[in-house]
Amino acid sequence: MGGEFTLIGRYFDWPAPPGILGVGDDCALLPVSPGHRLAVTTDLLVEGRHFFPDTCPEALGHKALAVNVSDLAAMGARPLGCVLGLSLPRVDEAWLEKFSRGFRALSDEVGCPLVGGDTTRSVAGVIISVTAMGEVSEGAALKRSAAKPGDDIWVTGSLGAAHVALELLQGQYPEHAALLDTLRPWLERPQPPVAFGSGLSGLARAAIDISDGLLQDLGHILKASGCGADLDYSLVPAHPALKELDAAIVQRAVLNGGDVYQLCFTADAAARADIKALALRHGIEARIIGRIRPGQGIHVSAAPVPLGKEGYAGFDHFG
Ligand code: ADP
Ligand code: MG
Repeated sequence: MGGEFTLIGRYFDWPAPPGILGVGDDCALLPVSPGHRLAVTTDLLVEGRHFFPDTCPEALGHKALAVNVSDLAAMGARPLGCVLGLSLPRVDEAWLEKFSRGFRALSDEVGCPLVGGDTTRSVAGVIISVTAMGEVSEGAALKRSAAKPGDDIWVTGSLGAAHVALELLQGQYPEHAALLDTLRPWLERPQPPVAFGSGLSGLARAAIDISDGLLQDLGHILKASGCGADLDYSLVPAHPALKELDAAIVQRAVLNGGDVYQLCFTADAAARADIKALALRHGIEARIIGRIRPGQGIHVSAAPVPLGKEGYAGFDHFG
């Protein structure tokens, strides 16, 4: 791409923290602490598939990194750095300026410096690929397979706002269109609990970030761990702004709505006080919503609308 190096220098060459070799060489060099494992995750965002062409570029920069550091949090890993692959149909400096600003603000906030990447011209549309790396103490990673019967099931933050924002953008519930201003940031600027997640390593057992819906994502933990779960719907935190909506709409958004980027994790009841203290320290809401049990499947009690088989489906690209 013409001016590739000028673009990189202008928008993506930020000073690397001490001890890290960042943008400008053939590879980045990152230190990993003794007794730790490198945690690596990657996510692709494709225009027209994951975001609308007119999405605010600053929000997009934020979200491209947010969905990746969310995966690090769900592994109990502390961020080390990230790389950014960008494929652009044309050079749009105003777009790049805003995109890089949103990306950088979150990168600074969660301590995940941009240390490299690749920039090319695309045939059509913007494609964004972010890979984030972190470190987690050997043996203390929050694997999906680690849940045990009797574990508490926790969630952070609140659920449902991003899903309803998406529905409103698609023109549903026109009588509630005024809610969009309140809910839109939850879809476009998810705030994964990154420092809280890395603090959970050694405290929690299994964890996942909620990207495809609580039931589907918890289902991944259950399948990997060979367990079932009992959830109490009355304990599941719906975003407060959803109150004015029909109970059935809220239930669907809360249990099946994706794009949340909060954590669902399991932990021994003996860890409750430590987890609450960790949440308090990081300003995170963390609540117990149920319990892991032997067997399989998810039973949800106190749900206003009975759950059919389809109640368990979240988002699946090839479903
Ligand atoms: P190479 O030829 O080794 O692939 P490039 O010429 O593509 O290197 O990139 C030069 C430097 O700029 C490398 O350090 C690369 O990591 C970095 N870089 C390229 N694109 C980006 C980007 N979008 N964000 C961050 N760093 C980038
Ligand atoms: Mg390259």
